[in-house]
Amino acid sequence: ADWAAAVAAVRRLPADGRVLLICHVNPDGDALGSMLGFGLGLRRLGVDRLQATFPGPPEVPEPFRGLPGLELLVPAAAADPEPDLVICFDAASESRLGELAGRLTGTGIALVLDHHASNTGFGDVNLVDPAAAATSVVAEELLARLGVSLDAGIAECLYVALSTDTGSFRFDATTVAVHEMAARLLATGIRPGDISRRIFDSRPFGAVRLFGEVLGRARLEPAAAAGHGLVWTYATLDDLARHDQRPYVLEALIDPVRCTAEADVSCVVKQTGPAEWAVSLRSKGAVDVSRVAVALGGGGHRLAAGFTGRGTVDEVVDRIRTELAVPATRGDIDKQR
Ligand code: 5GP
Ligand code: MN
Ligand code: MN
Repeated sequence: ADWAAAVAAVRRLPADGRVLLICHVNPDGDALGSMLGFGLGLRRLGVDRLQATFPGPPEVPEPFRGLPGLELLVPAAAADPEPDLVICFDAASESRLGELAGRLTGTGIALVLDHHASNTGFGDVNLVDPAAAATSVVAEELLARLGVSLDAGIAECLYVALSTDTGSFRFDATTVAVHEMAARLLATGIRPGDISRRIFDSRPFGAVRLFGEVLGRARLEPAAAAGHGLVWTYATLDDLARHDQRPYVLEALIDPVRCTAEADVSCVVKQTGPAEWAVSLRSKGAVDVSRVAVALGGGGHRLAAGFTGRGTVDEVVDRIRTELAVPATRGDIDKQR
């Protein structure tokens, strides 16, 4: 990673330098947490012409509405068109930046902070560490190299990012370095119980009922030719409407699904348009789901990946089965979609 170039890009900002922070569409804890934490750090360095934004609807998912640094956010449509420095967080490619994709070329310097192995290196300076558990690991290191010490605000943002991307310190990505970073963050006085409750263990009652309905239609397709069980379910826009819920509540739906002991691979198909679905894939290790996602036009990590599916649920799941070489068991599938 080109730390010296990244440090120089920040240090060389003029006194009235303008900085735009961006992250991937449908921002998760790592995208928002690393972006806002880094933004609070830049503010401590005296950068005050500073905005943060993300593509798509400007709504911040409810679990993240208590994050420090939210005041840095502006809607994508209002983002500075000519910043001196653009810093991009947690996006593996420009395709994850929606209408903001063009912002990395043309004006100023583009700095990319990420941890996806599939990162395409689309910045002028790329700090991409596939061994890092979260983009916030890269962000913390760059803040340290810039001489910014952690405060509770920065730490809370980076902790949200680190704990979401490690599945609350459960995944294999939870290394000694991750716990050491968590210790530095906790040393600022942040309260992990409060933060975890807000981020992971708090959802509207309507979402609890929606989960019940959607989990009730989950399908288990036991180990077939390839020897890998698949568990999957789907949620439609109508499901959301009936329970009066926003789409972000479905981000957590993969967690109860992937608990299924009989399945190596889990999948949630979430409707985003008339014939468009956001697909989440998870693996317990035997299958590289990023290969499946990439083959179907998406990306991600070996154990957590996703793509945008088009057509009907059946068509989308069939494509996954084909990639997994698990024969379709069509008789199992509900008629109602
Ligand atoms: P999730 O299932 O939580 O939405 O996403 C899991 C991982 O898959 C994310 O970290 C992200 O890297 C990747 N991912 C999800 N959806 C897409 C997509 O549509 N395109 C790409 N390139 N990656 C995705
Ligand atoms: Mn992310
Ligand atoms: Mn991440």
